Amino acid sequence: MARVYNFSAGPAVLPEEVLREAADEMLDYKGSGMSVMEMSHRSKVFDQIIKEAEADLRDLMQIPENYKVLFLQGGAHQQFAAVPMNLMKNKKAGYIVTGQWAKRAFNEAKIFGEAVELASSADKTFSYIPDCSDLPITDDMDYVYICENNTIYGTKFWELPNTKGKDLVADISSCFLSEPMDVTKYGLVYGGVQKNVGPAGVVIVIVREDLIRDDVLPGTPTILKYKTQADADSLYNTPPCYGIYICGKVFKWLKAQGGLEAMKVRNEEKAKILYDFLDQSKLFKGTVEKKDRSIMNVPFITGDKDLDAKFVKEAEAAGFVNLKGHRSVGGMRASIYNAMPKEGVEKLVAFMKKFEEENA
Ligand SMILES: *Cc1c(COP(=O)(O)O)cnc(C)c1O
Repeated sequence: MARVYNFSAGPAVLPEEVLREAADEMLDYKGSGMSVMEMSHRSKVFDQIIKEAEADLRDLMQIPENYKVLFLQGGAHQQFAAVPMNLMKNKKAGYIVTGQWAKRAFNEAKIFGEAVELASSADKTFSYIPDCSDLPITDDMDYVYICENNTIYGTKFWELPNTKGKDLVADISSCFLSEPMDVTKYGLVYGGVQKNVGPAGVVIVIVREDLIRDDVLPGTPTILKYKTQADADSLYNTPPCYGIYICGKVFKWLKAQGGLEAMKVRNEEKAKILYDFLDQSKLFKGTVEKKDRSIMNVPFITGDKDLDAKFVKEAEAAGFVNLKGHRSVGGMRASIYNAMPKEGVEKLVAFMKKFEEENA
């Protein structure tokens, strides 16, 4: 068996310990005589799995009592719609457009009301985070929306926007659990787990209780109302049971690693190794404004498309896979989520050095 270094942006690398444990429990989960894939979501055994997962996540992120945690399906894209359906009371919201996912959410919101673009970094191919200290936020806006870490372009909001008292909603899919965050600064955050937390099929929503309402936009399907899922503890219908089980294992793994403070230190260390190399390289260069660099997704280029393609191909042959940039931007991108060991980044940099020498 040969595991590769998987730099995929998502679905992405998971901790090997978690995969091994899941393999051990595949046929018989803790004496139940069945796999978690085969058990009722109403069973006592599964009840314990989802309750423990929530408790561990609350512990890791220090989620206050007045926030609900929902384990849902439909990915981030479903939240692009669910957020305006549930929160657009005045049918007006402000969006900061810093990449493709923010833009998708912005366009989706237009279906339901007036979505206002408060700021954008489209003028420089989303290579920076715009100044958000004094945005044209009006009193009638229901919320301000950001995509906190831009997976495709490799930028991150290191400072949250000044929302002028409005609730902040954030898509945290690709920075979920990468470092501590102050949940009280947000009205709602959500993340598809397939980037940094678990397998595709689960999206986790963390929402302040007063934003969970009955008076959602007319036409909102029952299943998309946060109230439906909150009242049923995420068990209104069949949840993505196996995915939640794996997320639960990842939460325990993160706690064993020392929690989110420890992950932050490790993630910064890994990102520094790669960025330091890029900053002195004569062949490769980063594509993002330094102050806005993500520590999860690191895009880079050689400036020559053919050489980029050659690099991706040779890297793959050497066991460094999924380094091709997003189809909309080209170049390369190394996603170095929680489960990517430091050794993987060090070896990648050594490989890049060698490639640079050979192609000088
Ligand atoms: C991957 C990604 C999405 C899209 O997720 P789906 O689960 O495919 O809907 C949205 N936002 C961010 C930040 C992402 O990284």
